[in-house]
Amino acid sequence: MKINVLDQVTIDKIAAGEVVERPASVVKELIENSIDAGASSIIIEISDGGISYIRITDNGTGIEEDDIKRAFLRHTTSKIQDENDLSSIHTLGFRGEALSSIAAVSMLEVLTKTKNVDYGISYKINGGIPEELSQTGAPDGTTFIVRQLFYNTPARRKFLKTAITEASHIGEIVTKICLSNPSISIHFINNNQTKIHTSGNGKLKDVIYQIYGREIATNLLEVDYTTKGLHITGLIGKPMISKGNRSYENFYVNGRYIKSNILSKSTEDVYKDYSMQHRYPFVVLSLNVDSHDMDVNVHPTKMEVRFLNTQKIYNELYEALNEALKEKELIPQIEIPMPTIISEPDNTPPQKENRDLNFYMEEMKKRVTEYHKEPSVKEEGSANEESSIKAEASIKEAPKDYQINLFEDKLISTEAKQEYRIIGQLFETYWLIEYKENLYIIDQHAAHERVLYDKTIAEMKSREYTTQMVSPPIILDLSMKEANLLKSHINTFEKIGFIIEAFGQDSFSVSGVPDNLFKVAKKELLMDMIDSLSDEFDKKVNEDIIDEKIASLSCKAAVKGNSHLSMKEVDALISELLTIENPYHCPHGRPTIIAMSKYELEKKFKRIV
Ligand code: ADP
Ligand code: MG
Repeated sequence: MKINVLDQVTIDKIAAGEVVERPASVVKELIENSIDAGASSIIIEISDGGISYIRITDNGTGIEEDDIKRAFLRHTTSKIQDENDLSSIHTLGFRGEALSSIAAVSMLEVLTKTKNVDYGISYKINGGIPEELSQTGAPDGTTFIVRQLFYNTPARRKFLKTAITEASHIGEIVTKICLSNPSISIHFINNNQTKIHTSGNGKLKDVIYQIYGREIATNLLEVDYTTKGLHITGLIGKPMISKGNRSYENFYVNGRYIKSNILSKSTEDVYKDYSMQHRYPFVVLSLNVDSHDMDVNVHPTKMEVRFLNTQKIYNELYEALNEALKEKELIPQIEIPMPTIISEPDNTPPQKENRDLNFYMEEMKKRVTEYHKEPSVKEEGSANEESSIKAEASIKEAPKDYQINLFEDKLISTEAKQEYRIIGQLFETYWLIEYKENLYIIDQHAAHERVLYDKTIAEMKSREYTTQMVSPPIILDLSMKEANLLKSHINTFEKIGFIIEAFGQDSFSVSGVPDNLFKVAKKELLMDMIDSLSDEFDKKVNEDIIDEKIASLSCKAAVKGNSHLSMKEVDALISELLTIENPYHCPHGRPTIIAMSKYELEKKFKRIV
């Protein structure tokens, strides 16, 4: 065995693998350098997803002639001097790895000029090997041009996705950076088209408007929360503009964009009380944390931080958001009475039928669940109580020979059909059904969804959908990312009956929709469906998952659009439910049926002790 000492070019190439994963990492590193250089204007231009061309121009300090060559060596930085500085970093960069790494795997050119000299410097370096350094005319600031990324590392190059996907990764990084730098004007151009252009006027709200548009920008709440060693500021979306995936949660810690489970969890936990399940909030939050309370030096690309006291961060963020949401009380809190069978008629005016319906449904369900969890009679085991509200209740050892089990009692069976009695509807949502010794409560929406879902999946497989034309067509103006999502899953949409055509750059026209969505197929629904695919984006997911996702969303929507069912329709619905293999849960996992036994009622009324 012979041990070789690697040369610098090879070492840099290997190291580059850690910092430069894809074009978006180059863009991130170079923009961060521009920010560290005090730029107030940054222009990012890419073509071919950044694979063949990236240009970043800033009006920052520039690099001095004497420093240029050194800037491209490994571990050279102007931002820290020694390890003592590590605990008080106030710049985005500090490792001195980016330039050497990028230069090692591309053909790079830099043009830079500082204010104190009247000429600029041009420097070229290919695959880490210096080519040319010369004086030239240039404006104040720095321009990097990165060509043919990974041209000398074919294995890496092969790993890249399509130009469209790479461009959307870049778009995302640029978005995150714009949101944390409202005072910097950022202009992002992809294939000669402006994709993002922020004004740099310092107002976060304006940045949000410029990136996400009016609907989000006009539904924001302010967060400004200070406690010892922590300052949280930002804008958060009202619960009504919640999103189908997590990519609208933007967290910055000391100016650096990060991904953090603890911050996401805390945020989502607060919103849970205000919005539907499986929805994610829109937030742009900056946390200023005393740098002694955390460690940013975790991962080379620095998308993670380690907090020294995670519980404190969780609690404080929860508090900050809860304050903001509660203060601007958006959802009228109504006291929902305990679910007693006979109660005073409710004289409060009916709430408007709108998207808050789900909120009430959830609240109602929570209370019903809580109610059943409380053992009303001391000696009763609460486990038994609980089992009665779970449709899939398993057979348990029950005291007093009592138990309730849907599988046993077979409400959902064709034989049962003849014997049950529909009592009526409650809160325009739940159907009460008497069957043998039990009262069953069927959530109309969940049941309807369940039935439709199975139908839709079957239709998808056999392509037996029906389409209704919409005129005029619905026009969708999408972001780059959304457009890519739609493009890559357009087949699935067509499988259930959508007719969608490209309509100019990143715009689409929808001229046909599935029959059962005719009433509800609005722009918002389509955007929601596209949104919800985002989690799957880039992963090699199997087609079935996408099919299921789209099917379940379309059912959910169809049900919302048909909230009033007659007794006859309900009867039909129940008998359809009977034919389904697993009727006890809707496609989203919520129960479709809960039950309360005669025995329980008698206990509640103290007929039995
Ligand atoms: P780091 O950012 O961790 O210091 P880099 O390799 O990204 O390391 O950059 C090396 C050095 O080059 C920086 O410390 C900085 O002095 C200089 N530099 C890089 N980009 C710019 C820029 N756009 N403007 C001014 N100086 C820059
Ligand atoms: Mg840097």
